[in-house]
Amino acid sequence: MSVDGGDSKKNVKKTPNDFIFGKVIGEGSYSTVYLAKEVDSSTEYAIKVLEKRHIMRERKTQYVMREKEVLMKLNHPFFIRLFYTFQDTDRLYFVLSYARRGELLDYIHRLSSFDEPCTKWYTAEIVAALEYLHSKGIIHRDLKPENILLNDEMHIQITDFGSAKILKDVKGEEEAPVSGRTTSFVGTAQYVSPEILTSKKAYYSSDLWALGCIVYQLMSGLPPFRGGHEYQIFQKITKLEYEFPDGFSVVAQDLVEKLLVLDPEQRLGCEEMGGFEKLKSHPFYEGIDFEHIHEQKPPPLIPFLPATSTNPENIWSNYRQPGFDDARMVEIITQTVITDDERKKRLDDQKQTNKYHKFVENNLILKQGFVDKRKGLFARKRMLLLTEGPHLYYVDPVNQVLKGQIPWSEELRPEAKNFKTFFVHTPNRTYYLEDRESRSEEWVAKISEVWQQYYGNRNNKK
Ligand code: ATP
Repeated sequence: MSVDGGDSKKNVKKTPNDFIFGKVIGEGSYSTVYLAKEVDSSTEYAIKVLEKRHIMRERKTQYVMREKEVLMKLNHPFFIRLFYTFQDTDRLYFVLSYARRGELLDYIHRLSSFDEPCTKWYTAEIVAALEYLHSKGIIHRDLKPENILLNDEMHIQITDFGSAKILKDVKGEEEAPVSGRTTSFVGTAQYVSPEILTSKKAYYSSDLWALGCIVYQLMSGLPPFRGGHEYQIFQKITKLEYEFPDGFSVVAQDLVEKLLVLDPEQRLGCEEMGGFEKLKSHPFYEGIDFEHIHEQKPPPLIPFLPATSTNPENIWSNYRQPGFDDARMVEIITQTVITDDERKKRLDDQKQTNKYHKFVENNLILKQGFVDKRKGLFARKRMLLLTEGPHLYYVDPVNQVLKGQIPWSEELRPEAKNFKTFFVHTPNRTYYLEDRESRSEEWVAKISEVWQQYYGNRNNKK
């Protein structure tokens, strides 16, 4: 990819007066990132502002200098670009390209997981980015979905080079900064490679390990190594203890297995294994034009709804629930016009007899039932409780713990996908739920009715 060009802008001296500072777009542990507009050109940038006193107090000078040094070496469409740096007595300013669409992690949370074409595309962009980064003699060492931002065209913009290593030698084996005990490791434990944990050495291929974790996470919804505590996660990483959930694409599995290899010199894509050419020619990337991927339009992000045994998507999606028709809908709806006396009676009854009463903040339960709450390829059994308020609580029935609520708003929209599966769409996330009794349409009807009750009239008045 011939995208590496000169950049004269870094030599132009700017001051804060050259920019109009707008809203805060993010906060790091020792920086605040602002959206800003250059006065002369009206170009939008993200300006990272670092308080000098705070950096010195936290002994982060080295981290900040490394980030600047790496950013200055990079000029590639898949990396955040540093356009100018300047300072005043109290602060350092980094003027960066603005990644308007935010973090890749937010999209994973919103969609639960990606479909195969999207996983293929976005991890191919990461492959192209890593090939460039490594050709510059740089290891990222903290690659994860939080550090992969997206620009307006939905292409990746890798950021956060505070932990990066600039290597002089070609082989790419270097002391990692992780000194002493592994517990001193700072960062997100899930993506760290086994060699960083065991030998404190980082290789170029430590980034390929992180890539393997990201392929797994985009396909399935969760990273491969999980645990309640960092130590547990580290144990699993060093033992290569992870599993593929049902429905994981076979070809993606093959790729992940070739990336998540304990020996850093045996990972697909590392020099000993034939370099990036071998990785790019893995069947998972068939059809990807790595040379021009940055000029092409990424596929739309579509959530992956797998056809598993509990979700027979392909067989049932065109059928409707037997016995559910307008008459049944009216029956359900008319059941719930509740008078005050009736509410009091039902609430008293709920208090006495319903063991889920304690989770619903004294709200009257309008419908409850066991569902499988899906996150990508993973599903958990939950008691779903639709109450007045309105609320949609979900409880872990085995441990009797409230796990959360689906946030209600005017934008909330339920949708039946088939007998079993229904979605609850919210602005930030689509919830995937499977009714164990194959009555997804009843849930949808009931949630719609509650929506109508709380938000419908308001709309009619408009
Ligand atoms: P820490 O340094 O504490 O690990 P961080 O790396 O997330 O945190 P920053 O790089 O300061 O800290 O970024 C803070 C937030 O601003 C992040 O949530 C990030 O998503 C957002 N952000 C940073 N740079 C940009 C950018 N160029 N465009 C858009 N958003 C950005």
